[in-house]
Amino acid sequence: MIAHDMVVLLDVDNTLLDNDQVRIRLEEDLQRVLSPEHVERFWGIYEDVRDELDFVNFPETIERFGRECTDSECVSQVSAVLYGFSFKDFVYADSMAAIDHVSSFALPVILSDGDQLFQRHKIQSAGLETAVDGNVLVYVHKELELADIKKRFPAAHYAMVDDKPRIHVGMKGAMGAQMTTVMVCQGKYAHDPAHHEFPGADITIEGIGGLLALTAGELRNAASGSVEG
Ligand SMILES: [Mg+2]
Repeated sequence: MIAHDMVVLLDVDNTLLDNDQVRIRLEEDLQRVLSPEHVERFWGIYEDVRDELDFVNFPETIERFGRECTDSECVSQVSAVLYGFSFKDFVYADSMAAIDHVSSFALPVILSDGDQLFQRHKIQSAGLETAVDGNVLVYVHKELELADIKKRFPAAHYAMVDDKPRIHVGMKGAMGAQMTTVMVCQGKYAHDPAHHEFPGADITIEGIGGLLALTAGELRNAASGSVEG
């Protein structure tokens, strides 16, 4: 495979898609189809699964809820709400323009954490998979998969756009000056004090639209050698 000059790795949740709002709307939708007790139990299982597996996993949550809940109608309603959800309504206004802009000088690749069923469904249903020509990677912990990422999408230089400080530290630690890290201050982490104390994204943007102002040269040249800059 021919290496690209630059691959830009784009996170999904709270980077291209307003996942905080998705969560709020999903809670409302589930409240419409389930009893308060079932709603509480569903989110309880969701948290149990996340603690146990260390990532959000809706298919496993639905399975476990289905085994506990004796009302099959109730289980099918949950599945219908989750898989019928209109994710495209929660894509940030500037996301598609940002992907187009990146495409003009680099290969945009979606790099998301999650399960292999629902997270992929979400990315496809939101129209994001099409926007990146099907170049979608989903892992449990993306920062541990750099060897696979580099094999799948070889490049002279990488940039990543993500809202989580933890991901930045892991990626920069592994890639050094071969990767430009771009912190996007959207979602719940933007209001986390630790976010502002985070020492070292190479570039910080307030929203995904901030990518539109960056040139290929600015992105590439901003890469420091370490997370402290
Ligand atoms: Mg994210």
